[in-house]
Amino acid sequence: MLDAAPEPVGASGLILNEPPLWERGRTGRSAISVPNPGVPSSPMPQDVAGDGPDWPDLSELEVVRHYTRLSTWNFGVDTGMYPLGSCTMKYNPKVHEALAALPGFTRAHPLLPAEASQGALRLIHETERLLADVVGLREASLQPAAGAHGELCGMLMIAAYHRHHKTGKTKVLVPDTAHGTNPATAAMCGFSEVKVPLGPDGRIEVPAVADLLDDDVAAIMVTNPNTLGIFESNLPEISRMLHERGALVYGDGANLNAVMGRVDMDKMGVDVIHYNLHKSMSTPHGGGGPGSGPVAVGERLVPYLPGPRVVKTADGSFAWNDDLPLSIGRLHAFHGQFGIFLRAYAYLLSLGKDLPQASGFAVLAANYVQEKLKDAYDLPFAGRCMHECVFTDAKQREFKISTLDIAKRLIDLGYHPPTIYFPLVVNGAIMIEPTETESKEELDGFIAAMRRIAQEAAGEPDVLHAAPALTKVGRLDETAAARKPKLTGDMGQDA
Ligand SMILES: *Cc1c(COP(=O)(O)O)cnc(C)c1O
Repeated sequence: MLDAAPEPVGASGLILNEPPLWERGRTGRSAISVPNPGVPSSPMPQDVAGDGPDWPDLSELEVVRHYTRLSTWNFGVDTGMYPLGSCTMKYNPKVHEALAALPGFTRAHPLLPAEASQGALRLIHETERLLADVVGLREASLQPAAGAHGELCGMLMIAAYHRHHKTGKTKVLVPDTAHGTNPATAAMCGFSEVKVPLGPDGRIEVPAVADLLDDDVAAIMVTNPNTLGIFESNLPEISRMLHERGALVYGDGANLNAVMGRVDMDKMGVDVIHYNLHKSMSTPHGGGGPGSGPVAVGERLVPYLPGPRVVKTADGSFAWNDDLPLSIGRLHAFHGQFGIFLRAYAYLLSLGKDLPQASGFAVLAANYVQEKLKDAYDLPFAGRCMHECVFTDAKQREFKISTLDIAKRLIDLGYHPPTIYFPLVVNGAIMIEPTETESKEELDGFIAAMRRIAQEAAGEPDVLHAAPALTKVGRLDETAAARKPKLTGDMGQDA
């Protein structure tokens, strides 16, 4: 691309080409200009310098432009709507970032003795209390560092409970709709997985669980609302059946954004739940950034929580307690992802009693999108949804248009695509989670783009097959990109 007649940078609207710095450098160019020191220059001896590192010679402006341009290639919630179902890509208020950057917190060392870190301990203690209250459970632990890590923590506690009670139970029930991490976690904790089939309206049915329930079942893992965005309204009855047989209930709370402060998990029979603070409580996420997956437990599992735990002493100060004989022990070096607790704490305190309202708006936004699109796209499960709605490409297939084509065309129309082909139980799934932070105008813009695509599918399907047409690169060979990553220059060739 760059050899013969390079496309002039800036000649294609705002889509700037950016070669690797090595192609931009010119021998002898320099980023600094200092007065001649007036002493003879003395080159570094060859035996010391060797061939030297292969740095390109660049001016300061070239370096600044290079990195600034690269930064504009990113897409994030701060750039535009990001309706990625199951991921809760909502806007995170900047004031929480400012609070998390306070030097008193960022400079605190985890090895400081309790006397010298009372503020940090208090923050951990109060965040645990607030989180437990949001779901109506007894106690919480902030140690797990991600959703899947919270699952591991919860299932290790369930395994410890069964070991302690010598039940010998070996199986875990996992619904068809579960996130892939659920069966993986059950297996890591030594259980075998038994799949629970989905009922006709997208929920788990009591008879399906009753059929599978025997004395070997140690627990069920239920995501509520589930990955179809549907509330598992049979859970209280299912929990009752499991408890009767001495089994426990794991609640995958990654979809908490639909029910914050609105559902009493204790009354639903949930023994342990994990949160994804990076999804629902104001931590920017994506790209593998830091997460946090605290757990909360009901009475049965309190003794098994990870340790050490922060306790409030009689004089009102905070201390570490590691006298926890039944604890599953540590799950994290030090105390978890502290910077993320700060954001969650700020988020919970700033919303206060309005927290349930945030979930209300998230559910309203998803139902609005579902209503406005249900004549244009196939809706596999009718009825109200929770925080996300799931469509398929069934109506577009007759025009040879697939979910992938729809997603790629959305990019041309200025929207990040929703989650596609997940959950796996829905053929050609398009899973849209608008979140509570988008305005009605923004939702209307997204709806208009989706409706336009449905029209194009019928009238001009070639436009969809050629999409995205307005990006730097078109459709990538995603398999080759993962299997044969190209980590050096030459990006223009076939990228
Ligand atoms: C995101 C998610 C997880 C996993 O959370 P991570 O933080 O990515 O490990 C688990 N279950 C459900 C339902 C999820 O949506």
